[in-house]
Amino acid sequence: MKTIADRLIEDEGLRRGVGRLTPEKIQKVFKELVAGECGARMKTYMETCVRCGMCAKACHYYMSHKDPSYTPVAKVSQTMWRLFDADGKVDPEVIYQCAQVAYTECNLCRRCIHYCPLGIDTGYIISVVRRLCHKLGVTPQYIQDTAHSHSATLNQMWVKDDEWPDTLQWQEEEAREEFPGLRIPLDVEGADFMYSVIAPEPKFRTQLIYQAAAIFHAAGVSWTMPATPGWDNSNMAMFTGDAEIMARVERAHYEAAQRLRVKRIVMGECGHAFRAVYDVANRWLGWKWHPVPVVHSVEFFWELIQQGRIKLTHKFAEPVTVHDPCNVIRGRGLMDKLREVVHFLCDNVVEMTPNREHNYCCCAGGGVINCGPPFKNVRIVGNSIKAEQLKATGVHWCIAPCHNCHGGLDDIITKFDLNMHTKFLGDLIYELMEKPE
Ligand code: SF4
Ligand code: SF4
Ligand code: SF4
Repeated sequence: MKTIADRLIEDEGLRRGVGRLTPEKIQKVFKELVAGECGARMKTYMETCVRCGMCAKACHYYMSHKDPSYTPVAKVSQTMWRLFDADGKVDPEVIYQCAQVAYTECNLCRRCIHYCPLGIDTGYIISVVRRLCHKLGVTPQYIQDTAHSHSATLNQMWVKDDEWPDTLQWQEEEAREEFPGLRIPLDVEGADFMYSVIAPEPKFRTQLIYQAAAIFHAAGVSWTMPATPGWDNSNMAMFTGDAEIMARVERAHYEAAQRLRVKRIVMGECGHAFRAVYDVANRWLGWKWHPVPVVHSVEFFWELIQQGRIKLTHKFAEPVTVHDPCNVIRGRGLMDKLREVVHFLCDNVVEMTPNREHNYCCCAGGGVINCGPPFKNVRIVGNSIKAEQLKATGVHWCIAPCHNCHGGLDDIITKFDLNMHTKFLGDLIYELMEKPE
């Protein structure tokens, strides 16, 4: 069987990081991590995995490469179990290999939990490997840059404090030409909800902010966006294993909502950001539940439709398919609401097979796309199974309510020449909704 050692890719961040390590330092940090952060969950997984391999077919990497070293159990054997076997005392090169597996060959999509008869969460184990690599200073160069940006600016894209309100004002001015009287309300205390987005939106996908503002304006809802840091709901530090920065970012996000005294937070169409805000960072902060209720756009659009606040001029006529993002479907169970929204908007919906909580990941998530060009082909070739799934629908449009999914799907569509296009729900609603004459 091949191993990770057969496919190592040079990355400056990983190479520089392992250059500073010794077996003794690795062992010390490993032991501290196991004693301080792992607890019964890791021990239970370690002692119950029977190496049966039933998780193999869950993983899109294995299904695409058909190489056993890409199965969930092999990924864990090559990383965490290997470290435990050596009591953490390994050669620095082993940490390079662990980092490559953990950051670039697992999307933390958690599909494999459904296929393991013992319910072992490989995504959790791999995220602990990432945590170790972070503590050892061994992270891929590109994703580390985004984590540094979070640390310095509280957003992922080095957006400066003045660029943020400037961008919103620019989008408001543009949108007012189409929707007279439209506002992007900044820092309105007591609004019903705070709308938050990921930093790539103001950086290079401003039309999504425009479209959201148009939908909220037409729906007549009470909303606001924070003028200060805390507006970015994304969290790449969660994926590098930097739990401290991850928690700082999420605390700022919740504190922005508390300062504005809103009733809840509505998050834009992003899966990983939702995972950070809804599921991971709040736990790390030790909060029993969220200090401010939080919903994903899928759920919010569903509510607006139920309340009759979205009026369409027509439905999308061409056949579409729906991609179920792991973090809002497996993570939050929004599969039915997603379908109700899509059927409200589209006449002809063709389901992928498998779908809902069994859907294949786009292979961009878990921070894998953020590890940059050195690893791009690994994830694209590593998801030919997704290409087959998309192709089998025979349609040209794919709806995906998640930024990372768009990135991953677009790359697969291009590589496998699928002649498809991706759409956000907000994109579609804006296109189909009633607008002023
Ligand atoms: S299916 Fe579960 S028990 Fe079997 S190898 Fe995979 S993780 Fe281990
Ligand atoms: S990519 Fe998904 S299915 Fe594959 S090992 Fe990671 S969590 Fe499991
Ligand atoms: S990018 Fe989308 S499909 Fe992939 S792990 Fe994230 S939410 Fe899931």
